[in-house]
Amino acid sequence: MARGFRLWLYVGFRGWLCQHEGFMLIDSHTHLLRLQIPPEVAVEGAIEAGVLTVVNVGTDVEDSRKGAALAAALPSVYSSAGIHPHNAGTYTAPDLEALAELSESPGIVALGEVGLDYYRGDWSAEIQKALFEDVISLANDTRLPLIIHSREAFTDTIACLGYARVPIVLHCFEGGEQEVREAVERGYYLGLAGNVTYKNSRTVHVLEMLDPERILIETDAPYLSPQAVRSKKNEPKYVVHTARFVAGRIGMREEEFGALTSRNARNVFGLPLQT
Ligand SMILES: [Zn+2]
Repeated sequence: MARGFRLWLYVGFRGWLCQHEGFMLIDSHTHLLRLQIPPEVAVEGAIEAGVLTVVNVGTDVEDSRKGAALAAALPSVYSSAGIHPHNAGTYTAPDLEALAELSESPGIVALGEVGLDYYRGDWSAEIQKALFEDVISLANDTRLPLIIHSREAFTDTIACLGYARVPIVLHCFEGGEQEVREAVERGYYLGLAGNVTYKNSRTVHVLEMLDPERILIETDAPYLSPQAVRSKKNEPKYVVHTARFVAGRIGMREEEFGALTSRNARNVFGLPLQT
């Protein structure tokens, strides 16, 4: 068989797989403005890999503004508006007003990421909680779901979230049995990122305990590249590796898992059916 023809067959078959049987995924948490490649290029690569929709996540007011502009410009991108706990120390009242204003942008589908991070310890718990509680109130007012960053702060995070009356996403979830039980009980969505594929993951041992209707899949790019591509900078298309890994662990067909997690993402973020 001529080499060119074989290549044509291969590419054609891959394309067919991608269209009909491959993953259809949503990367529910990514930082398009922090990648080494332009957002448009990352989104194009994602679509080619079957990742048809990307939720870009804001980490401060400026980043959230740029995210809203991206969501307006790129049809497969949605965005959130938030202030990461790493930035809690510079938070002021006008920032909350800016988030409130941004929450009215059509492409903004959530508030976050917000939360508590006791691992880095840049800011005191008190400073972090002040910001976190303000954004929870804003979420209650705007009815937008919340994307939560919680690191070594599970108990306090859960306590603060007791006041939230909107759907909750615990992004980059890395909890074990006790945390999963608590999250399932409260009906929180759990975002699984590349770190679930690492050897030291606690979550990988309790995947069967998760409520299937609450599982999301994410990259958190450019961070936490899945094991299969760990030497590379993460980008949205690599969510495929995490999805494949988790699907295998819970004994679900890849396409089925893709459909399930995409439906969950549409549900929590109110995305249109064709995403
Ligand atoms: Zn993030």
